[in-house]
Amino acid sequence: MKNRTISHIIEPQLVIEGAGVLLRRSIAPRASNEYDPFLLFDHFAFNNPLEGPIRGFPTHPHRGIETVTYMLEGSVNHRDSLGNAGKIGSGDVQWMTSGRGILHEEIPRRSENGNIYGFQLWVNLPAVKKMGQPRYQEVNSGDIPVIEKDGVTIRLVAGEWNGTRGPVTEIAASPLYMDVKLAPASSFIYSIPSGHTVLAYVFEGTGEFSGEVVESVSMAVFNDDGHQIEVKSDAAGRGVQFMLIAGAPFKEVIVPYGPFVMNTVEEIQQTIQELRNGTFIKQ
Ligand code: FE
Repeated sequence: MKNRTISHIIEPQLVIEGAGVLLRRSIAPRASNEYDPFLLFDHFAFNNPLEGPIRGFPTHPHRGIETVTYMLEGSVNHRDSLGNAGKIGSGDVQWMTSGRGILHEEIPRRSENGNIYGFQLWVNLPAVKKMGQPRYQEVNSGDIPVIEKDGVTIRLVAGEWNGTRGPVTEIAASPLYMDVKLAPASSFIYSIPSGHTVLAYVFEGTGEFSGEVVESVSMAVFNDDGHQIEVKSDAAGRGVQFMLIAGAPFKEVIVPYGPFVMNTVEEIQQTIQELRNGTFIKQ
């Protein structure tokens, strides 16, 4: 079996979003849609007390996308216009399908030892589903399958691993989303259908991905030139931990505009119009 090679490495940029939240952003929505079906990947890791209190992301809209929040440490309190409210705690995941629209707020909170560590991934919706019903899939840490074998620990959020299925289902992009940790001197192989986009966000340690050394913190983007991803960790190192993200591209024209991703300029104009005249939220 041939390994997919690395196309390029993305160094995350520090950006400020919401009410002054500092985060590391690897990809952001662009009309070129290079990482189709994935639009954005943010890493929350504001663990420097100098940053002061975290005000988070006050009420904002979304349309035409899915946002996936996965927390490793700390939590995010959320509340939306449809009456949903909850807390995404450490190890939990929230897969939010905005469909035609939600207005929500997301307020990150530090853990007891003062840390916040988590990720938000945006996944596109195909044109036929952009104006569908908003939907949430909330999964508690204990309901995410953990697979441990030969120094490899996998937390499977979405997709399949040797017959085990992740708890998040019925997502248009048929994505794979898993948290993979390799102890030193371990190896991991995962087959990926041809045509699927594959990204690996390396956030701890160092690993060899298809023969190339990738250090944290960075995102490796793979070519569509093989059947699998192969990762190895050095015996002398401290292992490696990464989010493996893969999915089928929609191959549709997209028009991103802030928290909205639609297919035409008219649809964006209509969205803005609806926000102005108060008809954005449809019960
Ligand atoms: Fe949001």
